[in-house]
Amino acid sequence: MLGARSVYQERELRYRHVIEGGLGAINQLQVKSVDSWRQRRMGEAAAVTDDGLLAAAMARWRRTRAPADAVPLRERLRSLVEHLQYTGAYLVDPQGQLLLGPDGPLKGAMPAAERDALRAALALAQPGVIGLQRDGMFAFPYFGLLAPLFEGAQPLGAVWLVVDARTTLYPLLATWPNGSQTAESLLVERRGEEVVFLSPLRHRDDAPLTLRMPAGGGVDATVALATAGSRGTLYGTDYRGERVLATASAVPGTTWLLISKIDEAEAFTEAQRREWLALALAASLALLLLGGSVVLWRWRAWRRERALKQRLEQHMRWLETAQRAASVGYFVYDAERRVFLMSTMASAIFGLPGEGEMGLRQWIDMLHPDDREEMLRVHGEAMAQRSALRVQYRVRRASDAHERWMEVHAEYGDAQGRERPRMTGTVQDITERRQAEEQLERYRTALEAQVRVDPLTQLANRLALDEHVAFEWERARRAGSPLALLMIDVDRFKAFNDHYGHMAGDRCLQNVGQALLTAMGRAGDVVARYGGEEFAVLLPGASGEQAWLVAERLREAVRGLAVEHARGSGDGIVTISVGVSSIQPAGREATTGVPRSGVDAAHALFRQADAALYRAKQCGRDQSVLYGPECEMVLHDPPDSLL
Ligand code: GH3
Ligand code: MG
Ligand code: MG
Repeated sequence: MLGARSVYQERELRYRHVIEGGLGAINQLQVKSVDSWRQRRMGEAAAVTDDGLLAAAMARWRRTRAPADAVPLRERLRSLVEHLQYTGAYLVDPQGQLLLGPDGPLKGAMPAAERDALRAALALAQPGVIGLQRDGMFAFPYFGLLAPLFEGAQPLGAVWLVVDARTTLYPLLATWPNGSQTAESLLVERRGEEVVFLSPLRHRDDAPLTLRMPAGGGVDATVALATAGSRGTLYGTDYRGERVLATASAVPGTTWLLISKIDEAEAFTEAQRREWLALALAASLALLLLGGSVVLWRWRAWRRERALKQRLEQHMRWLETAQRAASVGYFVYDAERRVFLMSTMASAIFGLPGEGEMGLRQWIDMLHPDDREEMLRVHGEAMAQRSALRVQYRVRRASDAHERWMEVHAEYGDAQGRERPRMTGTVQDITERRQAEEQLERYRTALEAQVRVDPLTQLANRLALDEHVAFEWERARRAGSPLALLMIDVDRFKAFNDHYGHMAGDRCLQNVGQALLTAMGRAGDVVARYGGEEFAVLLPGASGEQAWLVAERLREAVRGLAVEHARGSGDGIVTISVGVSSIQPAGREATTGVPRSGVDAAHALFRQADAALYRAKQCGRDQSVLYGPECEMVLHDPPDSLL
């Protein structure tokens, strides 16, 4: 009788281990998927912060406030919403005022929690996260990210990314077997003296983030234990006061706890009844017939085995559900048999029918010809060195011959850590992600070109000019040829504006810019709007005299426009003054004072052209002056006669 009892106890313990192990596995799987979901979102926010072009576009729009400058920003916000599945993406200023959304300007301020997070994100110059929130701003629980933007060290504001938790986070917790009537996973968080239930509840209708419990203890003993720091398997009551078996884990990088639980009544009672019955039966049989108990033992062992097998199958089904939710397939590569054993999801990703095997040869044939050699090399290397594998490659999918991008993460050995010649890993179809990345790259290139164009005249802007000067100076230095610069300023333009109005002023600048461009026409020469009503022309290879002749041609071209200017400097038309400078790199005839670095050269070119322009203005305007020592003299000590 005693023997039978200890057999029962030993079996009951084993049964408990099976249930606890299953619960733990599900809990771990869910923690991993919540963690990787969160990290992916953080990575996306960091990419937004690092996007210098976006920051440049924002700086520009904040300066001009021109609707045209808002277009690239709105496009970028829209691309975040459409390609990365954000519920909302908004530009905010450093004080948290809403500025712009994908559909146009916005008014109002972000909620207080977001504003605090914004202040911290700007101070640390890195993306900030606002945990799950429910407030008046949106009609749903949401998760927020703030990607701060800077111009140099100057904060410009941030992109506020909003994710609807109902369609992104909560489904990751819902990967439970249909078979269980009571099992569920919850996210909870300690906020001050309270514990807040962050996710929907299976057995109560409270909306997420509304049910709260005192942190020191409440009905939910398992949550109280978990928030007090207990991990692993917990026995206690849940929020209904029901006795449950639970597993709690912290989600890395957050203050969230993920608790997976099942009612004890469902998990054990049925088994206990069966065990007691078996005990009574075994005891009476032991009294009646010793041999009979042997038969019963064997029958029980078979039943136990079958129950364990069923449970294992159930766990595999749960794993499949979880994989489907994350679109991740699971595989094991058996190097001895040279086959991949695939989960249903992995088979679907490769376009193969159902759950099954894929031969090494079949996999090689499926690889894209351009990736094949490299893949065989890294795969062989990982097997030989027993190292982890993390690769992206293309395949031609078996079912429809479509080209798809795969991402594979694999480890040598198996889940139990046994050292066998095999690899275990996951595979994910990342084609859409790659396409979104490529589209982002195209957008980035277009934006890059746009940043170098002056919107009013469509000429190169100052940024582009500076880059050309640096580039051409390097070339001039290598070739030993001169580099010339013309600084052009429209005469009495303030008076033009005052007399004809700002709109006419803008039109005049467009015409002058166009006239300069048409009159130049030599490849390699750069005509830029330097700022305001000043233009600059870079002439690689031109000596001072040659550049002066070009300047005169440009001056004539502008006169040729014959734009009326009643308050101009001379004949009642718009005219320009031009300052000309040209420098020769040191080399053949090394001169003292010849700049060595590109920065010095650019500085000298601009300073000399400026001095010459100043001289042209002082000598009565509508003329071109080539830089010479007398220009400096005038600059430093202008004689009264010239003022
Ligand atoms: P000066 O002959 O000495 O150059 O006289 P000025 O009146 O041109 O002198 P200044 O350079 O001080 O004046 C420049 C004026 O150009 C001031 C500003 O009103 C005008 N301006 C600058 N940028 C723009 C622009 O984008 N559009 C228009 N319409 N006017 C501009
Ligand atoms: Mg000026
Ligand atoms: Mg002027």
